[in-house]
Amino acid sequence: MQPPDRLDLVLQGGKIVDGAGNPWYYGDVGIRDGRIEAIGRLDAVESVARIDVAGLVVSPGFIDPHTHADRDLRQLPHCQNYLHQGVTTVVGGNCGDSLYPIGETLDSLRALPLGINFAQLLGHGTVRQQVMGMADRPATGQELSAMADLVAQGMAQGALGMSTGLRYAPGCYAQLEEVVELSRVVARFGGVYTTHVRDDSGDSVGLVPATEEAIAVARRSRVPVQISHLKATGRDEWGKAPLLVGMIEDARREGLDVTFDQYPYAATGGRLSGTLPPRWALEGGHEKFKERFRDPAIQQRIREGTMANVDRRGGPDAIFVARFAPDPGLEGKSLALIGEGMGLDAVDAGLEMLSVSDGYIVVFSLKDGDVDHIAGSPLGMVGSDGNLADFGVGTPHPRCYGTFPRFLARFVREKRLLTLEEAVRRMTSAPANRMRLGPRGLLKEGMIADITVFDPEAIADRATFDEPHQHPVGVEYVIVNGQVALENGKSRGVSPGHVIRRAGSA
Ligand SMILES: [Zn+2]
Repeated sequence: MQPPDRLDLVLQGGKIVDGAGNPWYYGDVGIRDGRIEAIGRLDAVESVARIDVAGLVVSPGFIDPHTHADRDLRQLPHCQNYLHQGVTTVVGGNCGDSLYPIGETLDSLRALPLGINFAQLLGHGTVRQQVMGMADRPATGQELSAMADLVAQGMAQGALGMSTGLRYAPGCYAQLEEVVELSRVVARFGGVYTTHVRDDSGDSVGLVPATEEAIAVARRSRVPVQISHLKATGRDEWGKAPLLVGMIEDARREGLDVTFDQYPYAATGGRLSGTLPPRWALEGGHEKFKERFRDPAIQQRIREGTMANVDRRGGPDAIFVARFAPDPGLEGKSLALIGEGMGLDAVDAGLEMLSVSDGYIVVFSLKDGDVDHIAGSPLGMVGSDGNLADFGVGTPHPRCYGTFPRFLARFVREKRLLTLEEAVRRMTSAPANRMRLGPRGLLKEGMIADITVFDPEAIADRATFDEPHQHPVGVEYVIVNGQVALENGKSRGVSPGHVIRRAGSA
């Protein structure tokens, strides 16, 4: 290849970890017009700018296939908590809940000053709500075909695929048949199916049957399946990680394309409504819940179901309030402590809160052994399951700030569960392929210049459950679509991000 006559930027002298899993090598990376123009010895080539990255790793920008960034993208378009982790693309719309409609939304998001790239899945719960409201019953034939039309429309408009949240209302009201039928539409468009499985904590059908259901969707619709945030939550499911990973390996042997993502923490995060009350109590939405809660006879049944759920998750000492708008003073406190403060049983305190508003919580309900086992599988990717964070506001799950650096610090450097090259592959080319993001996720000539430069000895998360608003250390430069967005660990406040549609969509 003829060397280019002039580059915009050269990253000089780093260790290149290409994202494909190859062993690192020394080289310069040359960027022009937002693309990787050349890789090799580029010290003789003219360039507008050069950055000396000797001693640092140069890798593709990290891609987070599992976020809820769409929820607050309009308020927080700079996505600073992801940029500081070295993440250059986030995928929103997971767990069944997404912005809607896809086409108009993606068009309008293009006007935002995006700090990094954004792509979107279509939520099955969102589609179901369009057609059936919060009805707790199987779809009729007519409703199913109306939903299939909406899924086809969303896919044509650039959704990467469809997500389900079968644990949550209204997704939990859908049976396998409905999911299979809609997944066939997704498969026809070459999209991916991501799923928060029906039960990941043993509070309804059980974790193993719920995972079997996800695999059955692959078998029957032939859609690629990504099991979201694979984990074994709660007393009844602890120790099942080897079984789960084994099931996924078996599925692949059978010819089913099943993979998963994971966040590197032993605590889950979600809404009060998703953790405390029994499913049936939420049918019809939050207003219906409040109505039921006011009926003493029903309240007692809700209470019993909630006690069982709380116990399964490790008890009220394991559940912490992360965000509760009506009373921010409760944020950071455990349900046990809040109960004491209110002079109530912890379960009643939680239900009282929920009867006012649906807040966010963090639950310490995972075992390190399970987390580590899952991290050891090459079928996994890294996904934060996080939200955009408003620096200093609330007590979000630290995964919003720390997921990617933490994975590298804990699982690569400390525990040596995998090599750096393999970890980077799972953060870059693996999700880029899975989500069909086009020319991203690899350091290779012609690819889009989304690049992260970090110190492999220093990279680490800083965010904790008590003090989550802390950016990680060791991430030195982040380049998004050819523009330097993070320099010497500091955000430049630029907006180089793009809205990405599924490769091949209109
Ligand atoms: Zn989820």
